[in-house]
Amino acid sequence: MNTIFHKIINKEIPSNIEYEDDKFIVIHDICPQAPIHLLIIPKSYIKTINDIGNNQLHIMSEILKIVQVLAVRLQVDQTGYRLIMNCNPDGGQTIYYLHMHFLAGKQLNPHFG
Ligand code: 5GP
Repeated sequence: MNTIFHKIINKEIPSNIEYEDDKFIVIHDICPQAPIHLLIIPKSYIKTINDIGNNQLHIMSEILKIVQVLAVRLQVDQTGYRLIMNCNPDGGQTIYYLHMHFLAGKQLNPHFG
């Protein structure tokens, strides 16, 4: 499978990069749903949450570490933020490349659709 995130990671298409290291890339969502809307993407390809192997679960804690660092850097650790991971059609996943949404910068609607 070749998704838009493959192309972003490979720099075949441009993106607004907030953070990058050898294992992760964090980009600004092209269609932000909040003043800050980031996508945290592990570079090693995993299709959905369902496909995270037992030997890959450490990726989730690594994502949470990045969240903590970003929250301080963007000065939203105290005001707050929301993390979302969509899985498969009913969960609203549109890009089949594991990612976490990081939303902040305003008080978000408490209701989920
Ligand atoms: P999902 O619906 O799969 O959980 O989230 C995919 C997200 O990727 C959406 O919020 C969508 O706006 C974002 N997105 C789609 N195409 C692009 C793109 O080309 N660049 C960036 N930066 N974000 C994208």
